[in-house]
Amino acid sequence: MSVFISGATGFIAQHIVSQLLEQNYKVIGSARSQAKIDDLLAKFGNNPNFSMVVVPDVSKLDAFDEAFKAHGNEIKYVLHTASPFRFDVTDMEKELLIPARNGTLGILQSIKKYAADSVERVVITSSFAAIINFAKNNDKSFTYNETQWNPDTWESCQANPVQAYCGSKKFAEEIAWKFLEENRDAVKFQISTVNPVYVFGPQNFDSDVKKTLNTSCELINSIIQNGADAAIPDLAGQYIDVRDVAKAHLYAFQKENTIGKRLLMSDGDFNSQDIANALNADFASLKGKIPVGKPADGVLGGHFGAVVDNTKTREILGFEFIDFKKTVDDTAAQILKVDGKL
Ligand code: NDP
Repeated sequence: MSVFISGATGFIAQHIVSQLLEQNYKVIGSARSQAKIDDLLAKFGNNPNFSMVVVPDVSKLDAFDEAFKAHGNEIKYVLHTASPFRFDVTDMEKELLIPARNGTLGILQSIKKYAADSVERVVITSSFAAIINFAKNNDKSFTYNETQWNPDTWESCQANPVQAYCGSKKFAEEIAWKFLEENRDAVKFQISTVNPVYVFGPQNFDSDVKKTLNTSCELINSIIQNGADAAIPDLAGQYIDVRDVAKAHLYAFQKENTIGKRLLMSDGDFNSQDIANALNADFASLKGKIPVGKPADGVLGGHFGAVVDNTKTREILGFEFIDFKKTVDDTAAQILKVDGKL
């Protein structure tokens, strides 16, 4: 039996595929084109346990039909990671909300149609974005946990691309739980969601280090690339390493205690100053080439605003998360190595 993973070309998904293959699973991945498939299969050394199918655009509700018609009876676990994560959008509905929501609903409908008897577990890559409350985010007396939901509506989240992306993750996750509630008798699967904060860490393959990286890693890359006089971006959030996020996706279908759970993946707070501090402290080759900013303005080890309490998730998973220094340093070391500057 196989694990199906949508959006296998993604930053997080490639780490998941890598961990699945290490554990000897048979993996079927989806990507938007045959060229992307050929490239990814080659990167994984044409591993005989890894095959792929084309699923062009998850905005179409029947996008996954062909894949599940052909392979449904071989698939026991489904990991749905494909979803747009970008802020350079002009049409919030078309580019973010619809693909996120329809992709999630569509894959569940295809399972129901073609793999209702074989699929036992479904893991949705959701996000802290489905939990965030913009009105409370800077309020130190507010605490987030695994039970909360982003209060934005379909209309209100279209205020700007960041809010629209967060809304897209809320509506996608919400529709998954609703689908299960309405179809409990028609499908056999259970759902778990993985809700990460900002995900850092190296690309699974050095060859994926391009001038611009995926949205979350680009935060680190931009500080490395923009020069000593560039302003340090005014951004604070929480961080988690991609290898832990991938591991949580495996736990989310392998373990019984993850059934019906939202795994809120965060190791703590950071701001952009903390990234600059880590890079300045740990990479001699960056001295004088990146901004110093105001080192005392970092928030590492404390909170810039609302507190993320993921005690329940940590208890369920039972493994230590990679810390800030390692996740930033490993991201930066790979970028510098590929640039020949380490
Ligand atoms: P990437 O941009 O690297 O991966 C996104 C994946 O989704 C790619 O495989 C992409 O395909 C695919 N995709 C996007 N839009 C469509 C579409 N319309 N139709 C088909 N496929 C599509 O980002 P990440 O790996 O960071 O993100 C993966 C998941 O993790 C997303 O669901 C994201 O919301 C979530 N997440 C990410 C966080 C982070 O900090 N990185 C934090 C929390 C959640 P292609 O390669 O062809 O572009």
